[in-house]
Amino acid sequence: MNLHEYQARALLKDAGIPVPAAEVAESPEDAEAIARRLGGAVVVKAQVHAGGRGKAGGVKLAKGPAEARTTAQGILGMRIKGLVVQKVLVAPAAEIASESYVGIIVDRGTQSPVVMVSPAGGIDIEEVAAKTPEKIFRARVDARHGLLPHQALGLGFRLYPDLARARQAAAIMRQLYQVFGGVGASLVEINPLITTPDGTVVALDAKLVVDDNELDRRPDIAALRDAEAELPAEVRARAAGLSYIQLDGNVGCCVNGAGLAMATMDLVKYYGGQPANFLDIGGSSNPQKVVDALSIITADPNVRSILFNIFGGITRCDDVANGIVAATRQITLDRPLVIRLTGTNEALAVDILKGAGFSALTDMDQAVEQAVRLAREAA
Ligand code: GDP
Ligand code: MN
Repeated sequence: MNLHEYQARALLKDAGIPVPAAEVAESPEDAEAIARRLGGAVVVKAQVHAGGRGKAGGVKLAKGPAEARTTAQGILGMRIKGLVVQKVLVAPAAEIASESYVGIIVDRGTQSPVVMVSPAGGIDIEEVAAKTPEKIFRARVDARHGLLPHQALGLGFRLYPDLARARQAAAIMRQLYQVFGGVGASLVEINPLITTPDGTVVALDAKLVVDDNELDRRPDIAALRDAEAELPAEVRARAAGLSYIQLDGNVGCCVNGAGLAMATMDLVKYYGGQPANFLDIGGSSNPQKVVDALSIITADPNVRSILFNIFGGITRCDDVANGIVAATRQITLDRPLVIRLTGTNEALAVDILKGAGFSALTDMDQAVEQAVRLAREAA
């Protein structure tokens, strides 16, 4: 689950990290009032679940309340990476002497949290990682001990040559690690972590992604979900009990089991296609899930062909077949459908599908290849 910057800032602030005071506005009038309260120049920042807001024109400075109002008017309603801006953060404009990057992720390679820092922070950290990876420094954290003082200070010196700033950065990293572990994050980032002209280190931005599996034990964090700011298809899928992630390819995939869903996406790529989504209908045998899945997949205009890949174990192939037939009665299917199913009640499923005018394959390679070809022909 993604948090908004303003929500992440509040968590960072609670942990003791220096974050400038800020407030959220949903209208230009509110933005003006906040700017008046704060006094002086402000920065108006789009609150959407997307990076690169600065580059997209979603972060702008304003000299005072009147300008804050017109700036907010321009940013509210803007679209950034497909998401409509419904809120802006208004914060006092900071004077920036330097910008660095601090982030913590769960690293699969080392199976542990890794703290990453770079003195080349700001809006282009992806480019730094790609072109000058020597400017990124890492420390692996042993989750039993947490981020140790000497590790944090070592990273602090990678950012700043002097002890005073390195110490401030080190303290921030250790506080950030507390937030990371406390909420069960898979990623937390401060970019930029700035120094002001007087040498104070301050967090100017905050990004926090919480592992969905942690939400059951952190209802306070789960309550921060802003469904209105999420992709509609993902909200619908969650409500229907489906694991769904929208991607940007054109082969819609409907699969049972996360492992098979991953293998299916790999095979789509192997045959030269691009999956439009990850979708796991789960292990149960509920035809309604198939109906929901198909309506979510067909709502994506990028989808050119739809691939069902079902391995019947606990999931019964006949239930899936009934779901497909029921779904195609409710939804006009205007794109080719390739069905592969094998396993429990396979023969029954094939009869059901044939009765409704569909055909089914049992070979996964053949099915994926066909779905990729149909998507290409339709594109
Ligand atoms: P992002 O592009 O989505 O990561 O949004 P950020 O919050 O990181 O803002 C992008 C850039 O805007 C930062 O790297 C800064 O250079 C600039 N910026 C943000 N806030 C301020 C501020 O208070 N003062 C100044 N001078 N620049 C700011
Ligand atoms: Mn940023």
